[in-house]
Amino acid sequence: MLSVEKAREIILSKVPELPSEQVSLENALGRYLAQDIISSLAIPPCDNSAMDGYALRTDDVKTIGITLKISSILPAGAEPGNPVAKGQAAKIMTGAPIPQGADAVVRREDTTEEERTVTINKVPKKNENIRFKGEDIAPGQLILTRGTLLGPAVIGMLASLRRPMVQVSQRPLVAVLATGDEIVELGEDAPKNAIISSNSYTLLSLIKITGGIPCYLGIARDRKEDLKARLACAKKADLIITSGGVSMGDYDMIREVMNEDGNSLAFWGIEMKPGKPLAFGSLCGVPAIGLPGNPVSTMTSFYQFARPAILKMQGAKELLLPRVRARLKEALKNSGDRPHYIRGILERSGDDLVVSPTGPQGSGILSSMAKGNCYIVLPKGTTSLPPNSFVECEVFHIGCFL
Ligand code: AMP
Ligand code: MG
Repeated sequence: MLSVEKAREIILSKVPELPSEQVSLENALGRYLAQDIISSLAIPPCDNSAMDGYALRTDDVKTIGITLKISSILPAGAEPGNPVAKGQAAKIMTGAPIPQGADAVVRREDTTEEERTVTINKVPKKNENIRFKGEDIAPGQLILTRGTLLGPAVIGMLASLRRPMVQVSQRPLVAVLATGDEIVELGEDAPKNAIISSNSYTLLSLIKITGGIPCYLGIARDRKEDLKARLACAKKADLIITSGGVSMGDYDMIREVMNEDGNSLAFWGIEMKPGKPLAFGSLCGVPAIGLPGNPVSTMTSFYQFARPAILKMQGAKELLLPRVRARLKEALKNSGDRPHYIRGILERSGDDLVVSPTGPQGSGILSSMAKGNCYIVLPKGTTSLPPNSFVECEVFHIGCFL
């Protein structure tokens, strides 16, 4: 059986980075930059005031109580106006350009204003309260690199740089096929013991939050003909994800289909728990990941293999779930034969990060994923851990989704 790392490496070697496209900044959230960005401008574009106050010459104000003549009033957006001469101060608003001659701004709170004069109640330091031209971004500076996730701050920076359009990687089209004779669609008039295809919903959601465009192929019955007929609709997809039908059962057909002409099976079986029966190969010429059907296995295998693949296709830099070390709140036991991805609740406790398992850990217990925000990753060979041991956690939920 392959290790998680080796299996992921093989999958990542078989999925391509997609070409790029231009999008407007309004539509750029959650996309990945397909170009390096070198600034052609200085941000801020000129020296300007960080405060509402008075721009003055520090040489004039070596002690408190000096009174200066107000030479001009500079609202934000004003031209710099006349230079500030000896004995003068310009009344200035936050963001307004610093007039020539001035080398500091004294906050309004530190002054006493009269009609045409101002008395300075605090000795200013040179450059105080001045935001200098290019202090955020200098012209010619490499500010963002390919593969950067476009979040609010990055999008704001691009706007400041006067770039209304940005080159991003295309989103992968990801086909999803559920399988199983016992599986029915939500809303279908179904027998009592039928299982609702919750995996269809979790997978479509996971694909969306990973930046892919999901394309749903429905539920195939456990017959090769039905599987193949539905998969034929996925030829244009960048990735196919199936759920179920990859175990050892008589009706588990995914591997058989991958072994047929025109398709391929690269590997089957991963050393992990849950998620052991995973198949990877190609179907209709498209890279295909056959996820196990148990809902927790489906999600866990998605996070370990499908998520990195979808992110790689978008040129993302970081493909893996963020890892943190946390202190175990209670003892853990494991058979130790495979790494175990135990669903956990990670939280702060004073200065510490602590984690506790969500409860029953069966691979069909989807509530363990719903309650949890991380996997506690128990390595192979670890059979028990006492409370207060430090464990590695992979965080899958931080309270918001894109
Ligand atoms: P399988 O891998 O096909 O043997 O399925 C393993 C378990 O997962 C069985 O109990 C299935 O009923 C369940 N299962 C398979 N597909 C789905 C699905 N789409 N939604 C919810 N449960 C599923
Ligand atoms: Mg099945």
